[in-house]
Amino acid sequence: MTPSFNSVLVLGGGVAGMAAAKTLGDRDVTVHLVETADRLGGHAASWACMATDVCRHCGACLAQDMAHQTALHPKISVHLNTTLDTLEKTGQGFDICLTSGETIPAAGIILATGFSPFDPVPSLLPGLHFNEHDRIITTAQLNQMLKAGTLTDFLGNTPAPKIAFIQCVGSRNRQLQRDFCSQVCCKISLRHTQTAASPAGCRHHPVSHGPADHWQGNKVPGS
Ligand SMILES: Cc1cc2nc3c(=O)[nH]c(=O)nc-3n(C[C@H](O)[C@H](O)[C@H](O)COP(=O)(O)OP(=O)(O)OC[C@H]3O[C@@H](n4cnc5c(N)ncnc54)[C@H](O)[C@@H]3O)c2cc1C
Ligand code: SF4
Ligand code: SF4
Repeated sequence: MTPSFNSVLVLGGGVAGMAAAKTLGDRDVTVHLVETADRLGGHAASWACMATDVCRHCGACLAQDMAHQTALHPKISVHLNTTLDTLEKTGQGFDICLTSGETIPAAGIILATGFSPFDPVPSLLPGLHFNEHDRIITTAQLNQMLKAGTLTDFLGNTPAPKIAFIQCVGSRNRQLQRDFCSQVCCKISLRHTQTAASPAGCRHHPVSHGPADHWQGNKVPGS
């Protein structure tokens, strides 16, 4: 097969893959966007809207808008429920076989396969007792509850429920060889406190789990 110098394969249809595909497509490059799931958007498209009485600019709906625009872009072919099967290096590019059976010639490949949320199993962080108590959940689980509208059920009939947020779990931890900051969970927890407080009237206690206490003196008034 003759390699196409004006064709690029992007692996992963989350916001990073869609942004790369749009940037190339707008420059008249033919893009094959290959996504293993049955929809574009990746994690960002699955998060809950963080609006309280106003939009809180969380970006979740922007990911869905991006997915819509990507699907309509004339230079981008979207391959859902598909991934890369094999690839062969040719003199000037790659011949790529997809799991759908299609073969695509491409001058280059962009990997945008994203991340998996950290799983704080007790063997890694025993002090947190995650999985040992059904009221200790992850940020991603809280987000899913907010999206499904089940947070009130989870909190039960407690008149003034309280939630403690433990930050930097799975990040900024040299013992776990993860000494980087995720850059997202501070912002997400701040939005969660306000979104969760909106319907349930909870009081929140953000707690730092990392070496630098970003939350010191930063409790919600009255908590
Ligand atoms: C708890 C939590 C809450 C968050 N809340 C928000 C928020 O409210 N707003 C916001 O803007 N950001 C939020 N973020 C951050 C946001 O999720 C990430 O910035 C964003 O998802 C990163 O996009 P990505 O494309 O790099 O990766 P992902 O979103 O992980 O997308 C990667 C894509 O690649 C696909 N893929 C993986 N492997 C393959 C393969 N082999 N072949 C084909 N496809 C593959 C996956 O199916 C997926 O669709 C949150 C993050 C977390 C952890
Ligand atoms: S999903 Fe986020 S950006 Fe979109 S309306 Fe809701 S709060 Fe605003
Ligand atoms: S400092 Fe904030 S963004 Fe960074 S890992 Fe800790 S909680 Fe997450």
